[in-house]
Amino acid sequence: MKYCRFRLNGQAQYGFVEPISGRESIVRILLTPPEESDGDVEGLRSKRIDPIALEEAQLLVPVRPSKIVCVGRNYREHAKELGNEVPTEPVIFLKPDSSLLAPGGTVQRPKISQRVDYEGELCIVIGKKCRHIREDEDVKPYILGYTCLNDVTTRDLQKKDGQWTRAKSFDTFCPVGPVVADEIDPWAGVRLETRVNGEVKQSATTKDFLFPVDLVMRYITAVMTLLPGDLIATGTPEGVGPVKAGDVMEVSLEGVGTLRNPVADE
Ligand code: MG
Repeated sequence: MKYCRFRLNGQAQYGFVEPISGRESIVRILLTPPEESDGDVEGLRSKRIDPIALEEAQLLVPVRPSKIVCVGRNYREHAKELGNEVPTEPVIFLKPDSSLLAPGGTVQRPKISQRVDYEGELCIVIGKKCRHIREDEDVKPYILGYTCLNDVTTRDLQKKDGQWTRAKSFDTFCPVGPVVADEIDPWAGVRLETRVNGEVKQSATTKDFLFPVDLVMRYITAVMTLLPGDLIATGTPEGVGPVKAGDVMEVSLEGVGTLRNPVADE
C-alpha cells in the first residue's frame, strides 16, 4: 500500500498510489483520512478517479502529525563525523509541525545562519495510539508506514546553542513525503540515499541503525503518547553537509520514493 496527500480541485485529498504503465499514479481517493483507519488503511473506503501521475500532482505533506519526534546520532559513522561519542541510548528531540514542508516546497535558509545542512532520514508514520510499548510487544501494529524526511539543520546554531530546538525548528526545515508506504522492512535493511544537485552525499542502509525501530518506539513511548499521524525521524547517516541557494536536495528511500526540495535564501 502506498498513499499520498494532494490538492485536487482546491481540496486536500488522500490518494492511493499504484504503478500504471510504469508510472506511479494516484488511482483512488480515500474517503476517510488514513490517520483514522486504526492502522488498516487498505480497509478504508475509496473512490476511483482518472489516474493522475504522481509527478504531476500537487503534493502535500502526506500526514498531519501532532508532533515530530527525531532521533539524533542513530548511525555510528555520523556520530563520529560530528566529533561525538557513539551514544549508548537514543538521543531524542522534537521539531514543530510549523516546520513541515511538502514535496517540491522550497527550504528557506534563514539570514541568521551561515550553514544549513541536509539530513536524509527514514521516517516512521504512526497508525495507532501507543504508550509504554512493552518489551515483548510487537511494534509493527502501531506503524502505518514509512516515508522520507529531511531533518534540515542550521549546523552553526546547533553548535552555538548546545541544544537543538532553534537549529532544527525553522519554518520549511521538515520536508516530508512524497508517499507513505508499508511494504518496506527497516529491520531487514532499506537503502537510504541523499543527493544534492544529483550528486550522492549520503548512502546507507537502515541495517546500520544503532537503535532499531522497535527500540526507538519503546524508548519514545516510555515518555510520551504517540498518536496516529505522528512522525518519528530515525536519524541520519554519515555524509551530512551544507546547501546553498539554488541547490536541489533529494532524499530517496528504496520502496518508497524520492523527496525533492529546492533551497533558497530567505
Ligand atoms: Mg537528524
